[in-house]
Amino acid sequence: MPFNIKIIETAHGNLETPIFFPVFHLNKQGTGSFPKYWNEIPEMRTMLVNAHYISKSEKFKRISTKGLHNHFQFNGIFFADSGGLQSRLNNAIIDPLEILRIQEEIGADIAATLDAPVFITDNISDDKHAEYIQRTVKNALLASKNREREDMLLYAVIHGNDIKVMTNMIDYLNRKGNFNGFAIGGLILKRSNYRHLIDLILAIRKRTGEKPLHVFGLGGPAMIPLLTYLGVDSFDSSSFLSAGSNRVYFAPEQKSFAFNELPQTEMLPCVCPVCSKNSFEQVRSQRRLIGMHNLWMISYEIRKLKMHILEGDLESYLDYRFMNSAQIKIAYKYAKSKVGGFV
Ligand SMILES: [Zn+2]
Repeated sequence: MPFNIKIIETAHGNLETPIFFPVFHLNKQGTGSFPKYWNEIPEMRTMLVNAHYISKSEKFKRISTKGLHNHFQFNGIFFADSGGLQSRLNNAIIDPLEILRIQEEIGADIAATLDAPVFITDNISDDKHAEYIQRTVKNALLASKNREREDMLLYAVIHGNDIKVMTNMIDYLNRKGNFNGFAIGGLILKRSNYRHLIDLILAIRKRTGEKPLHVFGLGGPAMIPLLTYLGVDSFDSSSFLSAGSNRVYFAPEQKSFAFNELPQTEMLPCVCPVCSKNSFEQVRSQRRLIGMHNLWMISYEIRKLKMHILEGDLESYLDYRFMNSAQIKIAYKYAKSKVGGFV
């Protein structure tokens, strides 16, 4: 499979794949402790927010009047998720058109349609599975027909436990609607079944053609290279920060470590701006610093992936990259056998 760097045009500039979106969760007050990473990492000009959470926050009026870019003082590219997961987990009632209007109002550059998530426990022969799929498709088409802002990209969210059903869904959405890209939800729960995960992503990638493909929630430092290999264009995660609050450190080119697993040296074995300027103890004790280091590691990973894509040796880089991580190595080996027969 030839690997390319794709350009995705948005209202606030071009995105160059592979792209990572740090996830920002607003708390009820509409704030949240979050490092202003865009002032420190030059190419990290993206953010994923949840339109449903924003609509419930105290800052909603301000954000919908002024827009996300002004609220965050960040002229980057905002991806607004719809809150489908919250509607299923917390029985929140979300109207698909209302959430579309909110996404448009707050100035999202990319918006995801409102999905009715399917969980792995939902049996494909069950009526509920079919109902969730139908609602997801219906909501996506409603959004496509009623979108008003031409400069906001609309990604149709797809879900399901059956590859055939999901690829049919894409064909149907492409025929009936007008979508700029697709996004797969609910894969976090499927990550332990790597064969199914890989088969599913490859089948969907093939079906979406040239349109951008996003995967929700799977943007850890080991998943990013694997997803890039599978042809996924963008991913998001909050793990850099939640890993930060649990004091987990993304070690350069290795797995993640809890701080107490690391031998205590004066300085950490990393030369990112955070670890160059701060001692082991300073980094360990500040959530913000761990979060920023972890984001630097994601940038580092993506910079290397881009370089190897351009040099045409992505596979040999990944052979080396996954050499020491047993679990992901098995998944990568399986992916390689499937990608070989991709075209
Ligand atoms: Zn570092």
